[in-house]
Amino acid sequence: MSARILVVDDVDVNVRLLEAKLTIEYYDVLTCNSGAAALELAAEHQPDLILLDVMMPGMDGFETCRLLKARAETRHIPVVLVTALDGREDRIRGLEAGADDFLTKPIDDVVLFARVKSLTRLKQVMDELREREESSRRMGVEGEGAARLRSEGGRVLIVDDNAAQAEKIAAELGREHRVAIETDPEAAMAAAKGPLDLIIVNVAAESFDGLRVVALAKSGDARRAPILAIVEPSERPRMVKALELGATDILPRPVDPEELSARVRTQIRRKRYTDFLRQKLDSSLEMAVTDALTGLHNRRYMTGQLQALVGRAAHGGAPVAVLVLDIDHFKSVNDGFGHDAGDEVLAEFAVRLATNVRAVDLPCRMGGEEFVVVMPGASLDDAQMVAERIRRDIASAPFRVMGGKEQLTITISIGVAATTGDGDTPEGLLKRADEGVYEAKASGRNKVITKAA
Ligand SMILES: [Mg+2]
Repeated sequence: MSARILVVDDVDVNVRLLEAKLTIEYYDVLTCNSGAAALELAAEHQPDLILLDVMMPGMDGFETCRLLKARAETRHIPVVLVTALDGREDRIRGLEAGADDFLTKPIDDVVLFARVKSLTRLKQVMDELREREESSRRMGVEGEGAARLRSEGGRVLIVDDNAAQAEKIAAELGREHRVAIETDPEAAMAAAKGPLDLIIVNVAAESFDGLRVVALAKSGDARRAPILAIVEPSERPRMVKALELGATDILPRPVDPEELSARVRTQIRRKRYTDFLRQKLDSSLEMAVTDALTGLHNRRYMTGQLQALVGRAAHGGAPVAVLVLDIDHFKSVNDGFGHDAGDEVLAEFAVRLATNVRAVDLPCRMGGEEFVVVMPGASLDDAQMVAERIRRDIASAPFRVMGGKEQLTITISIGVAATTGDGDTPEGLLKRADEGVYEAKASGRNKVITKAA
């Protein structure tokens, strides 16, 4: 889906011009002529980016930006202020009002699209992460709270061969952050292996290719750290290239200390917010495919994997076998020793199961005391051999529970089935293996029953 952009300018010709440029590039464009209308449209249509003119009668761009950033429903939308040329004062005021970036009039097409692309891409990633956070909050998983994320104390690496400039930057940033300087890109890449919140690269360096450093940083260990590229304002193609290669922001030389501080603070806050959400996302993704008690794969994961493997087998791929395993008389463990002891048995069972299958097999807990092992590439004979090994290992040594106070003899019943190369389905395969379990239970338990089609 193409990004939606809101263009705000009091002069109609300016609006039409930007609208035309953006529409040609397939952006979905909304327009209006005042700050008040912008606030309404932004809340209603949730654009991915707002291009906001600074000089407007009534509510100007700064005030509009401040209000957009103060309201929960529009706070997350990136705002690019469109300022007059040489508007240093405007840039500082804009950053204080919460603007994410600036464009100067007359607007340069190449810079416009590089900026729009980079900000809308970032916005889409943030949206996805925010959505995940919302849904985990609805499920009652409340974390530390993104509100506690700070923008000071960041770990910043400066890669610059211009000693005077690097030291000036380090002195300015050193008041709030922990700063390191590297004059050599090789050493910089080694330093970038540690945790970093921001990398500042002088793209106009004389002794190394700054663009190459940007590209390297984006592909290595530090790829999640934002990159602030310092550029020579006259070198437009290099500026654009830096953004294309993944620089998250650019700062023209000579470096203005106040603007630098403000941009660094914004980048670090954003980085920490993304880290925070990503961390939550990783653990919820893991929860989605893993059984919490045993650490084995869960039913949902098994179902997806088996579906794919049986599908491949049906189209001439390698065969696949399944084991269905059920712990004998498990109810009597729970009834006699309590559910904690039952959980201990399940956890120990999972360990013995995982150590007796082949490296490529997928041991899963279906729920309760029922387990499944999916065996890619295994024939019925291979699977029977592994099943027999598991059965023997479970029965051979008692399970110690309740801190070693009790030793329980545990046995299992296992059903085995494999694809035949003719009309196999995951359901059919599991059903045959289930029938094997049923027969094992009916004929005395602690058995492996193999079911040919
Ligand atoms: Mg204007």
